[in-house]
Amino acid sequence: MHFTGLTYRPPFEAHSLLLQATTGCSHNRCAFCTMYRDVPFRAEPIEQVEEDLREASVYKDIVTRVFLENGDPFALSADWLKEIAGLIHRHLPNTETIAMYASIKNIMTKTDRDLTELRQLGINELNIGVESGLDSVLAAMNKGYTAAEAREALLHLQSAGMDWGANIIFGAAGSGHGRENAEATASLLNDTKPYLIFTGTIHADKGCSLYEDMQSGHFTESTIREYLEEQRKLLSMLTLENCFWFGLHPSNVVPMQGWLGRDRDEMLREIDKAFLRVAPVLGTRPRRGGEGAIL
Ligand code: SF4
Repeated sequence: MHFTGLTYRPPFEAHSLLLQATTGCSHNRCAFCTMYRDVPFRAEPIEQVEEDLREASVYKDIVTRVFLENGDPFALSADWLKEIAGLIHRHLPNTETIAMYASIKNIMTKTDRDLTELRQLGINELNIGVESGLDSVLAAMNKGYTAAEAREALLHLQSAGMDWGANIIFGAAGSGHGRENAEATASLLNDTKPYLIFTGTIHADKGCSLYEDMQSGHFTESTIREYLEEQRKLLSMLTLENCFWFGLHPSNVVPMQGWLGRDRDEMLREIDKAFLRVAPVLGTRPRRGGEGAIL
């Protein structure tokens, strides 16, 4: 298989066949992100995609799920995505789901008919960096859309029968604003109903504007207490039942996972226990390792 540059995938796509459809990210301007900073966005030639699929077809009996790479392959036009989906089904006929990273802006460029046809071709379970439901955060993080636009786009996905997972960042509003961030994000998620919520806390590596803002004091990171309060607030406000909370990224203060309908109370108790467990450091800010891991 052919991959250029760094390739990322969500942890829950570990058993998917990875297929490169694009290079880089079409937005590439989020304030906290350095993933594709020096990588120009481009579509992989369709001949290359088909060559990779021919190679992958030796696994055609066992491949049921394909994850398209890289930063946001849903940026491709609906026709291009349909062509790729057709090739996938030709070479890997047992494929049930074609998942990928997508952005709100990618959805906004598709018509309802596009979304329905893409869903019929097996494109589903998009992984979307929503990050927050608060306009001030979306603007500061340079996401390129408002909460109202995100709500509208995600409702269009829902109408097309497409499931999607939300990436959410605790602390994205900075110290002192965790509560309003949690409330706005809970409202957006409750309305738009993701099947999965993937959480992490805000962190920035050298090379992005948020890193500079943190260094200069323009952005003040939340304390551990604030991270715990925000996590608890969001979890307690979500009314979703059939949604999986995937909070195992190492940047989480309390790593946890579970079904919201079934496990929410147990997860809230875990956060309450964490307040006691880390009581001596509640007023401090996390020490970080690679990928923002809390040490
Ligand atoms: S966070 Fe996602 S959308 Fe934003 S620049 Fe990075 S890869 Fe692109």
